[in-house]
Amino acid sequence: MTQVFNFSAGPAMLPPSVLRQAREELLNWQESGSSVMEVSHRGDAFRAVATQAETDLRKLMQVPENYHVLFTHGGGRAHFAAVPLNLSNPTDTSLHLVSGSWSKGAVAEASKFNHPKVVGELTQKDGLDFMVKPVEEQIDQRAAYLHFCPNETVDGVAYDWLPESGKVPLVADMSSCILSKPIDVSKYGVIYAGAQKNIGPSGLSVVIIRDDLVGRAQRNTPSIFDYNELATTGSMYNTPPTFSWYLAGLVFKWLLKQGGVDAMAEHNQAKAKCLYDAIDNSSFYQSRVHPACRSIMNVPFQLADPSLDDLFLTQAAADGLVALKGHRFVGGMRASIYNAMPLEGVQRLVEFMQDFERRVG
Ligand SMILES: *Cc1c(COP(=O)(O)O)cnc(C)c1O
Repeated sequence: MTQVFNFSAGPAMLPPSVLRQAREELLNWQESGSSVMEVSHRGDAFRAVATQAETDLRKLMQVPENYHVLFTHGGGRAHFAAVPLNLSNPTDTSLHLVSGSWSKGAVAEASKFNHPKVVGELTQKDGLDFMVKPVEEQIDQRAAYLHFCPNETVDGVAYDWLPESGKVPLVADMSSCILSKPIDVSKYGVIYAGAQKNIGPSGLSVVIIRDDLVGRAQRNTPSIFDYNELATTGSMYNTPPTFSWYLAGLVFKWLLKQGGVDAMAEHNQAKAKCLYDAIDNSSFYQSRVHPACRSIMNVPFQLADPSLDDLFLTQAAADGLVALKGHRFVGGMRASIYNAMPLEGVQRLVEFMQDFERRVG
């Protein structure tokens, strides 16, 4: 079989060494004679896994002492609802930046629980997608929080500035960029992420929340989504997604071994540069995103002639380059190049793109 490079946006590829370790210990985990999926989440062995994963994530992201780290069910979208339930009252306003599909989805869900107000939207600059900073006067200091998505997985739009929100806590959906580069956690009220892009199997989500924001949930909040309930039970209010948590722990160990998020940032920059250079140096391929707002995790690109899309995808797949079809909202192609994607995979894609252009363009 040709080596496969998987560019899926999510669930996305995991580090092969992590999968090999999981396979090796699948049937007989820690000499228990059982798999990690078959042991009590409250037993010492699993608790050690759970604690170690938290410790390693705290180390990787330099999470300050006054933050809780929660491992929850429900992926990224669970927190579209859990955030308003935990951080606001029904009469409150929540502020939102809308830079693409996911941050837009968060507004729709928040409107069930509070009064969302959009204070910044994706615009165009030089005919390309561009995200502007909201102006300070737009930030109502009585708002419960300001929600944004620094990396839009579908649209490939990203920005690394932080909205200046004064006292209003920042809430970031980092599902597709968590652990891809260093960030200053102390600037945020809440960071959440579905696991299936940069952390592990789908279903799990990670929440990092400043402790003064815990314990204020609306009365009707289901306990399973109540951050206080999760914080006080060590994320074991009910049975957590144990296998996903275990696998996330293996990914954290792998990240530490790679040199942590600093090393990842360098690696991710190099991959993204390689791909964007190939797009920019050709008139056959195009990016619709302004260079100042381009994601280093998700790279959508279009063929000048969309009637060649299917041929491109078929031939790429035959070459071992899979899951390159763009999101149905955007069309064209999308290469997701999360932490686990090696530079070699991106180089192979670029070679294929250049070869395809020569043959067909
Ligand atoms: C994938 C993704 C989500 C949704 O994750 P689910 O686990 O499917 O709920 C939310 N936000 C962003 C930015 C994502 O990339």
